[in-house]
Amino acid sequence: MAESKHFIHEIIDEELKEGGRCYGQTVHTRFPPEPNGYLHIGHAKALEIDFGTAELYGGLCNLRMDDTNPTKEDEEYVDAIKEDIKWLGHDWGDRFFYASQYFEQMYGFGVELIKKGLAYVCELTPEQMKEMRGDTTTPAQSPFRDRPIEESLDLFARMRAGEFEDGSLTLRAKIDLASGNFNMRDPVIYRINRLPHHRTGNEWCIYPMYDFAHPIEDALEGITHSLCSLEFENHRPLYDWVVNNISVECKPRQIEFARLGITHTVLSKRKLRNLVETGMVSGWDDPRMPTLCGLRRRGYTPKSIRDFHEKNGVSKVNSVVEYAFLEYCLREDLNKTAARAMAVLNPVKLIIDNYPEGMTEEFEVENNPENPEDGTRIVTFSRELWIDRDDFMEEPAKKYFRLFPGNEVRLKSAYVIKCVGCDKDADGNITAVHATYDTESRGGNTADGRKIKATIHWVDTATAADAEIRLYDRLFTVEAPDLADVNYLDFVNPDSLTVIKGAKVEASLKACKPEDRFQFLRVGYFCADSKDSSPTHLVFNRAVSLKDSYRPE
Ligand code: ATP
Ligand code: MG
Repeated sequence: MAESKHFIHEIIDEELKEGGRCYGQTVHTRFPPEPNGYLHIGHAKALEIDFGTAELYGGLCNLRMDDTNPTKEDEEYVDAIKEDIKWLGHDWGDRFFYASQYFEQMYGFGVELIKKGLAYVCELTPEQMKEMRGDTTTPAQSPFRDRPIEESLDLFARMRAGEFEDGSLTLRAKIDLASGNFNMRDPVIYRINRLPHHRTGNEWCIYPMYDFAHPIEDALEGITHSLCSLEFENHRPLYDWVVNNISVECKPRQIEFARLGITHTVLSKRKLRNLVETGMVSGWDDPRMPTLCGLRRRGYTPKSIRDFHEKNGVSKVNSVVEYAFLEYCLREDLNKTAARAMAVLNPVKLIIDNYPEGMTEEFEVENNPENPEDGTRIVTFSRELWIDRDDFMEEPAKKYFRLFPGNEVRLKSAYVIKCVGCDKDADGNITAVHATYDTESRGGNTADGRKIKATIHWVDTATAADAEIRLYDRLFTVEAPDLADVNYLDFVNPDSLTVIKGAKVEASLKACKPEDRFQFLRVGYFCADSKDSSPTHLVFNRAVSLKDSYRPE
């Protein structure tokens, strides 16, 4: 994993050459999700960077729930996040933490800053603070900036004790009201907010702000490199200010990288939650969702997702990657790993007139020609088979080489057959196709070497299983539903799911397990649905089509 080096690794290599700022420790990173939703493919990028960098340097990566904001967090998400990370193949060992477990220490550092004259309790309301934040030419103001240390200490303690209204007082770091970086204009580091917290309950009515909490969490855990996305770049001076002004031994270094964007989808937990809550999708794990659980249910492999991030690389320039590239990475992996099977999505009966009634043959076929060690399986063959309606045309179109009266095709791995006609009902609908088989062509090759242009897939009616097939398309009809000035909900693709109820699949699939992945010959890559598929009601999700619309340069 993460074998290719990127700019973050170059920075670390330089540091190590200079004796390192890792204090003799190995590289120690962390992945800090906010437990307010499920992880998506963008988080997987951060996961690859955090865990991948640790792995590359023989270091460690912590998993930390960033739960300092009590408004929207939920324990439900914590378990889901852990499961998704494990599924991707990452291991945090016994280093699982909650930011909220450091609340007491954070409070202590707040006190320390006040004592050092580096923080003060401010009585400006949020509105007043906004009015007094100044602009590029005017510094911000606070009439409380020079309040005596003792007074701030007393007020801060009473804030904690619950003596003041929500939003009435804040603790602010005393840095630089004239700073060109507005994050440094005496940022609020604590606010009063009487909301129960999913872990600490009603113990606290003051909560630390992210910019204060995060560097403390990192420092307390001995994190050497705090890797985060680009939107925190302007916050780095504050990050450094915090670790440099509190009594911690470890001084982690923040390095930012570009966020991942993908076409035809949204990558924000808020928007994804909205899709779930408005019923546009069936849940966070709907196979159309870019969430890890959705991609997994769709049929994505951990390897395909890791390859996708690996190939995209890591830089400081935000970019949007084509959705088709993600599909390409999946196809590449499934081509090597997915077992082949035959499934007929739109079945019509094929009757082989000269094949003895009641006779059955077994053909041993390779599970995956790309991977001979995957072994073989048996498919049965008899007089009546299912084939796809599209593989027969009574009046062939130009360049149509499949079944039409008089034409020969190969039934995959079985026999060469010649179409002799079809049956129709009173309305003219085709109810069965008739053919004769070449008894000399067992296995699919002609004895006289004559060329057969087309090969079609089939399923034995005697042993076939019924299946429900779910075909998925892009969730959004436009490339960039995420743009600020459009309402992404207006662009949800109404045809993103097509359900086929009466498909016929080969008998071996009756034994498949949830999440087993297959290449249905000539049809696409499919995955047994983890929620709805059972031996008595098989359900397969199309993970990706066979055709490759994407060609990497
Ligand atoms: P969202 O907007 O989806 O809620 P977030 O950044 O608020 O994303 P967090 O749970 O705070 O979500 O993210 C955990 C980590 O994942 C952070 O380090 C964040 O930078 C990273 N991350 C989130 N989205 C992306 C993305 N699209 N590309 C790369 N990294 C991301
Ligand atoms: Mg966040």
